[in-house]
Amino acid sequence: MVQRSCSCNVNRRFVTGSLLFSGLSTFPAPATKAWARVTHATARADDERFMRLALAEAALGDFPFGAIIEQSGRVLAKGHNSGKTANDPTAHGEIMAIRDFVAEHPANELEGATIYTTGEPCPMCMAAIIWTGLSRVVFAASIEELSTLLGQIMIKSDAIAAAAPFAQVEITGGVLSREALALFPR
Ligand SMILES: [Zn+2]
Repeated sequence: MVQRSCSCNVNRRFVTGSLLFSGLSTFPAPATKAWARVTHATARADDERFMRLALAEAALGDFPFGAIIEQSGRVLAKGHNSGKTANDPTAHGEIMAIRDFVAEHPANELEGATIYTTGEPCPMCMAAIIWTGLSRVVFAASIEELSTLLGQIMIKSDAIAAAAPFAQVEITGGVLSREALALFPR
């Protein structure tokens, strides 16, 4: 695995933020060392294979978003956007995959697993991913790319992860992004 950058870039932004906050007496500057370790990594050999399973899930969704959770080559769970059919705006693909797993298994078995998702996790989903202990995120289309097609909350997944002092997350983006974007009607 080739790592092209590390937590440095993410942390640098927060160091700047903490300096700004340091001027406010009611908000002491957070310790820089408390920020999470977020690693950006290039794709692995099997990433496209698992992402194609997530793409197949996305094709089933109310909006074309899908996710699968994988560990040691096994697909543990899958989900697709069910916001309309479930009358639940939080029913994003990643959330549905997590719910699919915990409906049948202890939640702590998700720790260390990988989630493949056709869209970069939104802040809600990225927070859920961190709370479940998933340690690797592979996404297809980025938030920037998705924002050209539909509304997005413009906070990157690595920014959410970096703000969780207890988390260690590896993120790989851009795996089959063209295929993911092609699922949206033009
Ligand atoms: Zn989401």
